[in-house]
Amino acid sequence: MNINLDEIRAREQQYVLQTYRRQPVAFVKGQGARLFDAAGRSYLDLVSGIGVASLGHAHPGLTACITDQASQLLHTSNLYFHPFQAEAAARLSALSGLERTFFCNSGTEANEACLKFARRYWHTLGAHDRVGYVALVNGFAGRTMGALSVTWDEHYRGPFQPLIGPVTFVDPEKPEALAAAVSDKTAAIIAEPIRGEGGILPLPDAFVRAVKDVCARTGTLLIADEVQSGLGRTGHPFYFQALQWTPDLVSVGKALGSGVPVAAALVSERVAKAISAGDHGSTYGGNLLACRAAAFFLEQLMDKGLLEHVREVGGHFERRLRTLALRHPVIVEARGAGLMRGLELRVDAAAVVDQAREHGLLVNRTAERVVRLLPPLVIEAAEIDDAVDILDGVLAGIPAEVGA
Ligand code: PLP
Repeated sequence: MNINLDEIRAREQQYVLQTYRRQPVAFVKGQGARLFDAAGRSYLDLVSGIGVASLGHAHPGLTACITDQASQLLHTSNLYFHPFQAEAAARLSALSGLERTFFCNSGTEANEACLKFARRYWHTLGAHDRVGYVALVNGFAGRTMGALSVTWDEHYRGPFQPLIGPVTFVDPEKPEALAAAVSDKTAAIIAEPIRGEGGILPLPDAFVRAVKDVCARTGTLLIADEVQSGLGRTGHPFYFQALQWTPDLVSVGKALGSGVPVAAALVSERVAKAISAGDHGSTYGGNLLACRAAAFFLEQLMDKGLLEHVREVGGHFERRLRTLALRHPVIVEARGAGLMRGLELRVDAAAVVDQAREHGLLVNRTAERVVRLLPPLVIEAAEIDDAVDILDGVLAGIPAEVGA
């Protein structure tokens, strides 16, 4: 591929809405956990398209599967049947324990669907005023009006008020606030089992218990947003299982299509019973290509040893990052689970991202001071070692304090 970065940038600046701050690189191909730019430079990819390229780049099995599907039929709409929605949905059900699936195209849409289904549940039961949501401080659910309403960061929300309400934000560090926030007007609590954009933030045990207790006591529905933490990334099929939560609604996306855009809202039978034809829909949602890709990914995860691989490599990653944190005073904490990891720094993480890239390693900055690490689920231990060695060298040159 012929790539002139300056030319692309100039054309984008003229024609593409400037909602993204991109890094100065364009990739032309990938292989496993590696990406290559036009000059043939190789990068170890610990971003995987923000947790999307679960099977790595150019996975031969996925490539064969989507090539085959593209050569037959891509899309017919939800007006007609095809076999692959039920195939992918049956696997999602076996993995999650939730009985039904609604397919859509992005994590944001999956959360929109969950928010709607929660209200629909109470409406069907005649509790027409049970419409509120409780969401988490440092939580992220997406940037459409509904998902944005339950996204915490004021920076995202401020310019778009008024959003959909009522929404009450609760700080998981103050678990006692949850019981006060949930009332008989609350439709659902929406929570990421590990807050990803918020900085790979796990939930304190007391808050995990408070969520269980308040849902059991009040019947409030729980929406587990597993868009980032779900589908094997943490070494568990879903992280709500590690927390022993029993959500009625679960949103998934990212890893599901390993690069083919597909997402889903998973729904318990009691909520499913409250939904009628026409309550929700999507032109693209669950098309043949998307569901073939999802079914293929889920087969790898469930039947071909991928989940066990994440557990093994994730344990290795954790040990290496803990040692790294001991070596570098600039690291406040290494945290996360499986292949969803974060290094919280004492300083802005931007310099680490830039310098790592210059040394052939892609990592991502979130919540300003957190280096987020979301490698493809197929990454090997030796590649983890190479990545941590590069980070080790980069962190050695980062001052341990702001202004130092
Ligand atoms: N929910 C969580 C937890 C996410 O991390 C994200 C994206 O980062 C979303 C929702 C939104 O997903 P998408 O960008 O696919 O719409």
